[in-house]
Amino acid sequence: MSTEQFPQWTPSELFKDRPESSKIRDQIFAAYELVEGLTLSQPPSLAELESVCKWVNANDNTFLPLFVKYHRTLKRVYSSSLSEKISALAQHHCSICTIHDGGLPTHVISIRIPPISKQAAAQTRGRRAAFERAIKYRFAGHLTPFPADTSICLLIVFVVKASGAQKDLDNMAKAILDAVKNVLFGDDRRIDHLNIIRIKSPDEEFVYLNIRETRLNEHHDVLFPRMLHTWAGAQPLNLEDFLEET
Ligand SMILES: [Zn+2]
Repeated sequence: MSTEQFPQWTPSELFKDRPESSKIRDQIFAAYELVEGLTLSQPPSLAELESVCKWVNANDNTFLPLFVKYHRTLKRVYSSSLSEKISALAQHHCSICTIHDGGLPTHVISIRIPPISKQAAAQTRGRRAAFERAIKYRFAGHLTPFPADTSICLLIVFVVKASGAQKDLDNMAKAILDAVKNVLFGDDRRIDHLNIIRIKSPDEEFVYLNIRETRLNEHHDVLFPRMLHTWAGAQPLNLEDFLEET
């Protein structure tokens, strides 16, 4: 992107492919001080941050095209076999959660077990417990790749038979999440991003997991750490108002 079309004060860090959040922040403060002729406290107060945030929003034409980076991710358009297509999907890169500096390595793990539905398995005694035991057996002797306090981005690829009754995607996800929590990562409440794919196959059934660390909720990429939602007049919905008399 050419720098000529932007004002002189535009933070230079924003022109980089992988800008650092802390540098963007410092350079936005410097630009604000220069343009507004003000000096911010060190560190800026919440009220000052809100003013800077509003100034940034008012200068959307400058900031927005630079805040939104188009990270190229490769999409496979053709595969030599269904196996190739499925493993390519399982390797899928999460452009939202990818951590460029540091972070734990991504794990792509296959589990050669037909997926079950948590809801359907509950109807057959012992089936759910057997599924969980089978998965624990699969990972016996493996180290937990993600410590319990790691926030997780998880992609699940279910490979199921095209024929026969189809299980709900969400119920298949519940069954596998119950089985792998505390085995591959901590509690399943650590999952901040969950992606689920179902691929139909003429024969084999199995599961692929793609697990990576996410820093989605650390908000180092946010200038003003508060909500400024305007809602455009939308009313809040209170559940109490909709409870039916019993
Ligand atoms: Zn993600």
